[in-house]
Amino acid sequence: MQMVKQVLKKIRNSLFAANALGKIKLKRSPSLVILTYHRILPGQSALRQTEQPGMIATPEALDMHITLLKKLGAEFISLNTWLDAQRQNQVLPRFAVAVTFDDGWQDNYEHAFPVLKKHHVPATIFLVSRRINTPWQFWPEQVLELLINRAHYLDHEALQWLRPYLSDMLTSTNPTSSYTILQADSVINRLKELDDHTIETNLELTRTALPALSQATVNARPLLNKQELETMLKSGLVTFGAHTRHHYRLNHLADPSDLENEIAGSRSDLEALGLQPVNVFCYPNGDITGKGEQLVRGYFTAACTTEQGWNKTPSNPFGLRRFNFHDGNGSTPLSFLATLGRP
Ligand SMILES: [Zn+2]
Repeated sequence: MQMVKQVLKKIRNSLFAANALGKIKLKRSPSLVILTYHRILPGQSALRQTEQPGMIATPEALDMHITLLKKLGAEFISLNTWLDAQRQNQVLPRFAVAVTFDDGWQDNYEHAFPVLKKHHVPATIFLVSRRINTPWQFWPEQVLELLINRAHYLDHEALQWLRPYLSDMLTSTNPTSSYTILQADSVINRLKELDDHTIETNLELTRTALPALSQATVNARPLLNKQELETMLKSGLVTFGAHTRHHYRLNHLADPSDLENEIAGSRSDLEALGLQPVNVFCYPNGDITGKGEQLVRGYFTAACTTEQGWNKTPSNPFGLRRFNFHDGNGSTPLSFLATLGRP
Protein backbone atom coordinates (compact mmCIF):
# COMPACT_ATOMS: atom_id res chain seq x y z
CA MET A 1 0.00 0.00 0.00
CA GLN A 2 2.83 2.33 0.96
CA MET A 3 4.48 1.71 -2.40
CA VAL A 4 1.27 2.45 -4.31
CA LYS A 5 0.93 5.71 -2.41
CA GLN A 6 4.51 6.65 -3.27
CA VAL A 7 4.01 5.89 -6.97
CA LEU A 8 0.78 7.94 -7.03
CA LYS A 9 2.55 10.82 -5.31
CA LYS A 10 5.33 10.70 -7.90
CA ILE A 11 2.81 10.75 -10.76
CA ARG A 12 0.93 13.65 -9.18
CA ASN A 13 4.17 15.56 -8.61
CA SER A 14 5.23 14.94 -12.23
CA LEU A 15 1.93 16.41 -13.48
CA PHE A 16 2.23 19.46 -11.24
CA ALA A 17 5.88 19.93 -12.23
CA ALA A 18 4.89 19.76 -15.92
CA ASN A 19 2.24 22.39 -15.19
CA ALA A 20 4.90 24.66 -13.63
CA LEU A 21 7.23 24.18 -16.60
CA GLY A 22 4.36 24.97 -18.99
CA LYS A 23 3.60 28.18 -17.08
CA ILE A 24 7.25 29.22 -17.06
CA LYS A 25 7.81 28.53 -20.76
CA LEU A 26 4.48 29.54 -22.31
CA LYS A 27 3.23 32.44 -20.23
CA ARG A 28 3.18 35.63 -22.27
CA SER A 29 2.10 38.20 -19.67
CA PRO A 30 4.57 39.09 -16.88
CA SER A 31 4.25 37.24 -13.61
CA LEU A 32 5.96 37.24 -10.23
CA VAL A 33 6.72 34.16 -8.17
CA ILE A 34 7.66 34.79 -4.53
CA LEU A 35 9.67 32.08 -2.79
CA THR A 36 9.34 32.06 0.99
CA TYR A 37 11.59 30.46 3.58
CA HIS A 38 11.77 30.59 7.36
CA ARG A 39 14.84 28.78 8.65
CA ILE A 40 17.79 27.59 6.57
CA LEU A 41 19.57 24.83 8.49
CA PRO A 42 22.01 22.16 7.32
CA GLY A 43 20.78 18.57 7.50
CA GLN A 44 23.00 17.80 10.51
CA SER A 45 22.12 20.91 12.56
CA ALA A 46 21.07 20.11 16.14
CA LEU A 47 18.57 22.99 15.93
CA ARG A 48 16.41 20.88 13.64
CA GLN A 49 15.46 18.62 16.56
CA THR A 50 13.25 21.29 18.12
CA GLU A 51 11.76 22.96 15.05
CA GLN A 52 8.53 22.43 13.13
CA PRO A 53 9.23 20.52 9.90
CA GLY A 54 7.33 23.11 7.83
CA MET A 55 9.81 25.79 8.92
CA ILE A 56 13.12 24.38 7.67
CA ALA A 57 14.93 24.02 4.37
CA THR A 58 18.60 23.20 3.78
CA PRO A 59 21.14 25.62 2.24
CA GLU A 60 21.55 23.04 -0.56
CA ALA A 61 17.80 23.20 -1.35
CA LEU A 62 17.90 27.02 -1.52
CA ASP A 63 20.91 26.79 -3.85
CA MET A 64 19.11 24.22 -6.03
CA HIS A 65 15.93 26.35 -6.26
CA ILE A 66 17.90 29.39 -7.46
CA THR A 67 20.06 27.41 -9.88
CA LEU A 68 17.06 25.63 -11.39
CA LEU A 69 14.95 28.76 -11.81
CA LYS A 70 17.87 30.66 -13.35
CA LYS A 71 18.28 27.83 -15.88
CA LEU A 72 14.59 28.14 -16.68
CA GLY A 73 14.99 31.86 -17.45
CA ALA A 74 13.86 33.42 -14.17
CA GLU A 75 14.91 36.98 -13.47
CA PHE A 76 15.58 37.32 -9.74
CA ILE A 77 14.43 40.70 -8.55
CA SER A 78 14.05 42.48 -5.23
CA LEU A 79 10.42 42.69 -4.15
CA ASN A 80 10.79 46.48 -3.71
CA THR A 81 12.16 46.88 -7.25
CA TRP A 82 9.32 44.82 -8.74
CA LEU A 83 6.67 46.76 -6.78
CA ASP A 84 8.18 50.13 -7.82
CA ALA A 85 8.22 49.06 -11.47
CA GLN A 86 4.60 47.88 -11.29
CA ARG A 87 3.50 51.15 -9.64
CA GLN A 88 5.26 53.21 -12.29
CA ASN A 89 3.87 51.11 -15.17
CA GLN A 90 7.36 50.13 -16.27
CA VAL A 91 8.08 47.02 -18.32
CA LEU A 92 8.25 44.02 -15.96
CA PRO A 93 10.25 40.81 -16.49
CA ARG A 94 8.17 38.04 -18.06
CA PHE A 95 9.14 35.59 -15.30
CA ALA A 96 10.27 37.46 -12.19
CA VAL A 97 11.19 35.66 -8.97
CA ALA A 98 11.58 37.34 -5.55
CA VAL A 99 13.01 35.63 -2.47
CA THR A 100 11.64 36.32 1.02
CA PHE A 101 12.44 35.05 4.51
CA ASP A 102 10.03 35.36 7.45
CA ASP A 103 10.80 36.09 11.13
CA GLY A 104 14.49 37.11 10.96
CA TRP A 105 16.25 33.91 12.02
CA GLN A 106 20.00 34.05 12.68
CA ASP A 107 20.49 31.15 10.27
CA ASN A 108 19.37 33.42 7.43
CA TYR A 109 22.69 35.24 7.87
CA GLU A 110 24.75 32.15 8.54
CA HIS A 111 23.35 29.78 5.92
CA ALA A 112 21.18 31.69 3.41
CA PHE A 113 23.19 34.90 2.91
CA PRO A 114 26.23 33.00 1.50
CA VAL A 115 23.93 31.33 -1.07
CA LEU A 116 22.37 34.68 -2.02
CA LYS A 117 25.86 36.20 -2.44
CA LYS A 118 27.07 33.26 -4.51
CA HIS A 119 24.21 33.72 -7.01
CA HIS A 120 23.93 37.48 -6.56
CA VAL A 121 20.24 37.09 -5.77
CA PRO A 122 18.38 39.81 -3.81
CA ALA A 123 16.04 38.98 -0.93
CA THR A 124 13.68 40.56 1.59
CA ILE A 125 13.73 39.49 5.24
CA PHE A 126 10.61 40.21 7.29
CA LEU A 127 11.66 41.16 10.82
CA VAL A 128 9.88 41.06 14.17
CA SER A 129 11.15 44.45 15.27
CA ARG A 130 11.14 44.11 19.08
CA ARG A 131 12.88 40.72 18.98
CA ILE A 132 15.96 41.83 17.02
CA ASN A 133 19.19 41.73 19.04
CA THR A 134 17.55 39.66 21.80
CA PRO A 135 17.87 36.01 22.88
CA TRP A 136 14.10 35.65 22.36
CA GLN A 137 12.61 32.30 21.37
CA PHE A 138 9.18 32.38 19.72
CA TRP A 139 6.56 30.46 21.70
CA PRO A 140 6.30 27.50 19.27
CA GLU A 141 10.03 26.80 19.71
CA GLN A 142 9.71 27.15 23.50
CA VAL A 143 6.86 24.62 23.51
CA LEU A 144 8.71 22.23 21.17
CA GLU A 145 11.78 22.33 23.39
CA LEU A 146 9.61 21.57 26.42
CA LEU A 147 7.70 18.67 24.84
CA ILE A 148 10.73 17.08 23.21
CA ASN A 149 13.55 17.64 25.72
CA ARG A 150 11.80 18.46 29.03
CA ALA A 151 8.68 16.30 28.99
CA HIS A 152 9.51 15.04 32.50
CA TYR A 153 8.15 18.38 33.77
CA LEU A 154 4.76 17.96 32.12
CA ASP A 155 2.92 16.80 35.24
CA HIS A 156 4.18 19.84 37.20
CA GLU A 157 1.36 22.15 38.27
CA ALA A 158 3.07 25.12 36.56
CA LEU A 159 2.23 23.40 33.26
CA GLN A 160 -1.44 22.83 34.06
CA TRP A 161 -2.45 25.41 31.43
CA LEU A 162 -0.83 23.32 28.67
CA ARG A 163 -2.56 20.04 29.48
CA PRO A 164 -5.78 20.61 27.47
CA TYR A 165 -3.66 20.97 24.31
CA LEU A 166 -1.52 17.87 24.76
CA SER A 167 -2.21 14.57 23.05
CA ASP A 168 -4.90 12.70 25.03
CA MET A 169 -3.42 9.37 24.11
CA LEU A 170 0.02 10.26 25.45
CA THR A 171 -1.09 12.01 28.62
CA SER A 172 -3.45 9.21 29.71
CA THR A 173 -0.78 6.50 29.44
CA ASN A 174 2.31 8.39 30.56
CA PRO A 175 1.94 12.10 31.20
CA THR A 176 5.66 12.76 31.08
CA SER A 177 6.73 10.79 28.01
CA SER A 178 8.65 12.70 25.36
CA TYR A 179 6.91 13.89 22.24
CA THR A 180 8.04 13.23 18.69
CA ILE A 181 8.45 16.29 16.51
CA LEU A 182 5.15 15.53 14.70
CA GLN A 183 3.20 15.07 17.95
CA ALA A 184 4.67 18.33 19.26
CA ASP A 185 3.80 20.04 15.98
CA SER A 186 0.12 19.12 16.46
CA VAL A 187 0.20 20.59 19.99
CA ILE A 188 1.46 23.88 18.48
CA ASN A 189 -1.47 23.89 16.06
CA ARG A 190 -3.99 23.29 18.87
CA LEU A 191 -2.41 26.05 20.98
CA LYS A 192 -3.07 28.55 18.18
CA GLU A 193 -6.63 28.92 19.45
CA LEU A 194 -5.13 31.01 22.27
CA ASP A 195 -3.73 34.46 21.54
CA ASP A 196 0.05 34.81 21.40
CA HIS A 197 0.32 37.10 24.41
CA THR A 198 -1.58 34.63 26.64
CA ILE A 199 0.69 31.77 25.58
CA GLU A 200 3.81 33.88 26.19
CA THR A 201 2.58 34.97 29.62
CA ASN A 202 1.84 31.35 30.56
CA LEU A 203 5.31 30.31 29.44
CA GLU A 204 6.88 33.13 31.42
CA LEU A 205 5.01 32.11 34.59
CA THR A 206 6.06 28.50 34.00
CA ARG A 207 9.72 29.55 33.74
CA THR A 208 9.47 31.52 36.98
CA ALA A 209 8.12 28.42 38.73
CA LEU A 210 10.56 26.09 36.98
CA PRO A 211 13.85 27.98 36.41
CA ALA A 212 15.51 24.81 35.05
CA LEU A 213 13.41 25.23 31.89
CA SER A 214 15.39 28.33 30.95
CA GLN A 215 18.68 26.45 30.62
CA ALA A 216 19.31 26.07 26.91
CA THR A 217 19.96 22.58 25.57
CA VAL A 218 21.53 23.95 22.38
CA ASN A 219 23.53 27.12 22.77
CA ALA A 220 22.46 29.25 19.83
CA ARG A 221 21.00 32.72 19.43
CA PRO A 222 17.78 32.21 17.46
CA LEU A 223 17.36 35.65 15.84
CA LEU A 224 19.46 38.06 13.81
CA ASN A 225 21.41 40.81 15.58
CA LYS A 226 22.00 44.38 14.46
CA GLN A 227 25.48 43.74 13.10
CA GLU A 228 24.24 40.89 10.89
CA LEU A 229 21.37 43.06 9.65
CA GLU A 230 23.75 45.91 8.81
CA THR A 231 26.17 43.63 6.97
CA MET A 232 23.35 42.24 4.84
CA LEU A 233 21.91 45.70 4.14
CA LYS A 234 25.34 47.04 3.11
CA SER A 235 25.77 44.19 0.63
CA GLY A 236 22.96 45.76 -1.41
CA LEU A 237 21.34 42.33 -1.76
CA VAL A 238 19.09 42.28 1.30
CA THR A 239 16.27 44.64 2.20
CA PHE A 240 13.94 44.40 5.17
CA GLY A 241 10.21 44.32 5.66
CA ALA A 242 8.03 44.48 8.78
CA HIS A 243 6.49 41.42 10.44
CA THR A 244 4.95 43.22 13.47
CA ARG A 245 6.69 44.09 16.74
CA HIS A 246 6.08 40.80 18.61
CA HIS A 247 4.77 38.36 15.97
CA TYR A 248 1.26 38.61 17.38
CA ARG A 249 -1.36 37.23 15.00
CA LEU A 250 -3.49 40.23 14.06
CA ASN A 251 -6.82 38.37 14.22
CA HIS A 252 -6.24 37.84 17.97
CA LEU A 253 -5.70 41.54 18.76
CA ALA A 254 -9.01 42.98 19.94
CA ASP A 255 -7.75 46.42 21.01
CA PRO A 256 -7.31 48.80 18.00
CA SER A 257 -4.35 50.51 19.68
CA ASP A 258 -2.54 47.14 20.02
CA LEU A 259 -3.14 46.57 16.32
CA GLU A 260 -1.72 49.96 15.37
CA ASN A 261 1.21 49.46 17.74
CA GLU A 262 2.13 46.14 16.11
CA ILE A 263 1.73 47.36 12.51
CA ALA A 264 2.91 50.98 12.50
CA GLY A 265 5.33 50.41 15.38
CA SER A 266 7.20 47.67 13.55
CA ARG A 267 7.95 50.05 10.69
CA SER A 268 9.14 52.89 12.94
CA ASP A 269 11.29 50.46 14.99
CA LEU A 270 13.07 49.21 11.87
CA GLU A 271 13.59 52.73 10.59
CA ALA A 272 15.00 53.77 13.96
CA LEU A 273 17.53 50.95 13.54
CA GLY A 274 18.54 52.41 10.15
CA LEU A 275 17.10 49.50 8.17
CA GLN A 276 15.08 51.52 5.65
CA PRO A 277 13.47 51.43 3.16
CA VAL A 278 10.74 49.45 4.98
CA ASN A 279 7.89 49.40 2.47
CA VAL A 280 6.44 45.91 2.71
CA PHE A 281 4.52 44.26 5.54
CA CYS A 282 4.09 40.53 6.09
CA TYR A 283 1.12 39.13 8.07
CA PRO A 284 2.16 36.76 10.93
CA ASN A 285 0.66 33.34 10.25
CA GLY A 286 -1.06 34.94 7.22
CA ASP A 287 -3.89 36.15 9.44
CA ILE A 288 -5.54 39.24 7.96
CA THR A 289 -8.39 41.27 9.44
CA GLY A 290 -10.30 44.19 7.91
CA LYS A 291 -9.01 46.74 10.40
CA GLY A 292 -5.51 45.28 10.19
CA GLU A 293 -5.46 45.52 6.41
CA GLN A 294 -6.70 49.10 6.57
CA LEU A 295 -3.80 50.03 8.84
CA VAL A 296 -1.29 48.13 6.69
CA ARG A 297 -2.53 50.10 3.66
CA GLY A 298 -1.93 53.33 5.56
CA TYR A 299 1.66 52.57 6.59
CA PHE A 300 3.05 50.36 3.81
CA THR A 301 3.03 50.14 0.02
CA ALA A 302 2.52 46.36 -0.14
CA ALA A 303 1.87 43.25 1.96
CA CYS A 304 2.73 39.56 1.70
CA THR A 305 0.23 36.86 2.63
CA THR A 306 0.58 33.11 3.12
CA GLU A 307 -1.85 32.48 0.26
CA GLN A 308 -0.18 30.26 -2.31
CA GLY A 309 0.07 31.16 -5.99
CA TRP A 310 1.62 33.17 -8.80
CA ASN A 311 1.17 36.94 -8.96
CA LYS A 312 -0.05 38.23 -12.30
CA THR A 313 0.39 41.79 -13.50
CA PRO A 314 -1.19 44.00 -12.41
CA SER A 315 -1.58 42.38 -9.01
CA ASN A 316 -2.99 43.68 -5.75
CA PRO A 317 0.16 44.82 -3.90
CA PHE A 318 -1.56 44.17 -0.54
CA GLY A 319 -2.42 40.57 -1.32
CA LEU A 320 0.86 39.16 -2.62
CA ARG A 321 0.88 35.39 -2.89
CA ARG A 322 3.87 33.26 -2.06
CA PHE A 323 5.15 29.68 -1.99
CA ASN A 324 6.52 28.59 1.38
CA PHE A 325 9.32 26.06 0.94
CA HIS A 326 10.61 23.52 3.43
CA ASP A 327 12.14 20.03 3.41
CA GLY A 328 8.77 18.43 2.69
CA ASN A 329 7.99 20.29 -0.54
CA GLY A 330 11.30 21.48 -1.93
CA SER A 331 14.16 19.09 -1.25
CA THR A 332 14.26 17.69 -4.80
CA PRO A 333 13.88 19.49 -8.18
CA LEU A 334 10.68 17.48 -8.80
CA SER A 335 9.00 18.36 -5.50
CA PHE A 336 10.09 22.00 -5.87
CA LEU A 337 8.59 22.34 -9.36
CA ALA A 338 5.48 20.38 -8.29
CA THR A 339 4.87 22.92 -5.51
CA LEU A 340 5.12 25.77 -8.03
CA GLY A 341 2.72 23.96 -10.39
CA ARG A 342 0.05 22.92 -7.90
CA PRO A 343 -3.32 24.39 -8.89
ZN1 LIG B 1 6.23 34.67 10.92
